[in-house]
Amino acid sequence: MIVSNNVSPIWQALPDDHPQRLDHAVRQGLEKAPGGKATVFFRADDVAVPGNAFSAMLALFRERSAPLNLAVVPAWLTQSRWTALKREAAADSLFCWSQHGWRHMNFEAPGAKKREFGQARSARDKRQDLLKGFKRLEEIMGADFTPVFTPPWNRCDSEAMAAMPAIGFKGISRTVGAGPDAPKGLPDFPVRMDLHTRKEQDPDASLDAMLQELVQGLASGQLGVMLHHQRMNQTSFDFLALLIDQLRPHQGLSFAHFGHLLAR
Ligand SMILES: [Zn+2]
Repeated sequence: MIVSNNVSPIWQALPDDHPQRLDHAVRQGLEKAPGGKATVFFRADDVAVPGNAFSAMLALFRERSAPLNLAVVPAWLTQSRWTALKREAAADSLFCWSQHGWRHMNFEAPGAKKREFGQARSARDKRQDLLKGFKRLEEIMGADFTPVFTPPWNRCDSEAMAAMPAIGFKGISRTVGAGPDAPKGLPDFPVRMDLHTRKEQDPDASLDAMLQELVQGLASGQLGVMLHHQRMNQTSFDFLALLIDQLRPHQGLSFAHFGHLLAR
């Protein structure tokens, strides 16, 4: 049994008819998808520290042979933590390790949207932290590091993005519709369906909103799903398993991670 804090209301009282509603949403999204085809990827954020929830998440994906992106906070990662994470993941090519900020710290004024790589800092400072994170992950993870950047809170400014290609980043992952546009040569793999940081107070409305995100993602041909393992309880683990199991049998659907998407 996993015990977590900050569990969204939907996972504290998930409506009983969620399997039927999920099934309906998957079919609806695929009907609208271009050529009936869509790619699904999962991105787990705030990775670096081993623990029960992290292990349970990896096991869930491994048991289903489903790929998973892991967005790692460089300043939180140590050699011994990496050894432990890698032990959990084994030599599995299902798991794709990428960069999540530098130390996941907000620099904006109180009340403003949180950013580690926003206008509150100089272009030089942002570039240095991007580079520091990149080098640290390269050094600790070696060939396991895939150079895709996820900004903390899914937001960063154009100065930060302009610095990324020269450092070696090959892609970025934010939320759908996040501005400003990424520069040329930095493909964007946005997430759309947020499972664990939902704020709706009413579980029923929350499920509707979340399934709408799923429909929109599939209809666009690419569904990115954002996970936060520290905020999962048993109900959200069961739902994640159901989500993968319900997506899997559809012919038009394929699972990918950033490594696969960059190779296309
Ligand atoms: Zn984060």
